[in-house]
Amino acid sequence: MRVYNFSAGPAALPLEVLEQAQKEFLDYNGTGMSITEMSHRSKAFMALNEEARILLRELMKIPDGYDVLFVQGGASQQFAAVPLNLMKTGKADYILTGNFAEKAYEEACLYGDAAVVASSQDRGYTCIPDIEKISFREETDYVHITSNNTIFGTRYTAFPKTTAPLVADMSSHILSEEIDVSLFGLIYAGAQKNIAPAGLTIVIVRKDLEENFSPCLPCPTMLRYSTQAKNDSLYNTPPCFSIYMACLVFRWLKKFGGIKEIQKINEYKANLLYDFIDNSGFYSNHVEKKDRSLMNVPFVTPSKELDEKFVKEAASFGIVSIKGHRLVGGMRASIYNAMPVDGVKALISFMKKFAQENS
Ligand SMILES: *Cc1c(COP(=O)(O)O)cnc(C)c1O
Repeated sequence: MRVYNFSAGPAALPLEVLEQAQKEFLDYNGTGMSITEMSHRSKAFMALNEEARILLRELMKIPDGYDVLFVQGGASQQFAAVPLNLMKTGKADYILTGNFAEKAYEEACLYGDAAVVASSQDRGYTCIPDIEKISFREETDYVHITSNNTIFGTRYTAFPKTTAPLVADMSSHILSEEIDVSLFGLIYAGAQKNIAPAGLTIVIVRKDLEENFSPCLPCPTMLRYSTQAKNDSLYNTPPCFSIYMACLVFRWLKKFGGIKEIQKINEYKANLLYDFIDNSGFYSNHVEKKDRSLMNVPFVTPSKELDEKFVKEAASFGIVSIKGHRLVGGMRASIYNAMPVDGVKALISFMKKFAQENS
């Protein structure tokens, strides 16, 4: 039996996509072999690699001045790749909105003068700092944000206006809502939240930033955006299976009507859950309402003991991976694109029942 999987990542994938992958696992497209067994230079794989890139461009309306790269190492590798590629004069501004933003900042400190220009740490990361009030340093090479905070359940609904290129870690909400790519110098995202199995990292980079590294701090060949751009992301062996799965997910999303349509469903799912939590008199979510994530919904019951009991009992109702991150405690429902409305409804019915039995 398939469960409703609320994992923050690696996360649930659309059932249709899994079934398609299963169907063609032993014999991909008449080649007589699995996609996991063939050369990354084969016609069949190169066609997929190309299709995935084109579909992502189409879905996110990525302007011509940007390259789409498929790399490895996760978002965490990009914490280093971003400063190594973009710190031309050695300065970068960071906005801290959670654990991953902190990690990105700490990594940048290894390579240059990284500064925290705003932070919601003093508010327990329950909100996004007021972007109108931030002053950025002159001559900063870029400004880094984490646009959706997976652990704390916050998201930017507007982006800071900067003269330096804006860089965003979109790992946990890429493809969940319409975003104007032209506002950014660079976007990166680990695929395992909203796109594909782990192993693939998406980078969308403005072409003029591809070789913006400092002469004093040469960027490793494999981490250079220019290396990947010049080689259609096939400089070395790419994560073939993840790219294939990403391609299937992109096709699925296109068939669904694209990001505009999935955004409506995502807003509907998130509203159902937040409205229920806010009106339950039993559960609470501590995030400032205007900054709530559509993808990651942390919540608590009135006590730690009940939180534990909740997680345990939910599993017997087919609701799994709902335990909150250790930094926040309680529960977290990650409701990415692949989570059907029925999954959110099933969660809410269980929450209702649990509240009745325990209040
Ligand atoms: C999951 C996540 C990461 C870490 O991604 P890896 O691919 O495991 O390195 C970084 N940033 C955000 C916002 C995330 O959600």
